Amino acid sequence: MRIGLDFDGLLDEQPGFFGFLTSALRSAGHFVAVLTYRDPATRSRTTAELQRLGIVHDELHFACSLGDKGRLCRELDIDIYFDDQDECLADVGEQTTVFKIRNGGNFDFDEHKWLSTERLTRLL
Ligand SMILES: [Mg+2]
Repeated sequence: MRIGLDFDGLLDEQPGFFGFLTSALRSAGHFVAVLTYRDPATRSRTTAELQRLGIVHDELHFACSLGDKGRLCRELDIDIYFDDQDECLADVGEQTTVFKIRNGGNFDFDEHKWLSTERLTRLL
């Protein structure tokens, strides 16, 4: 399988879990890519942070925008993608299974409701 992982709000939310997961996946021969919307000039600092968090990966890619992660998922032929922001998930193709991570940036824990925008959310 080919796995894609967001960094901020995901890997740094549960580094122990994702360190274990990425290590297990790579040991089993799976491909792991980190996709981030950070400034590409932060590559060396981002790589050092991944190492410090214990995240093992094959490739690190910098998206040009939040929505650009959909293009990266298609180009990298990602099977499973983890992210915390709807803006990053909206353009991910149907062939990619998405796991959305809940955190304080996308969920109101006092009201027990997801946070999103009208553009990205159609109410049932
Ligand atoms: Mg994120």
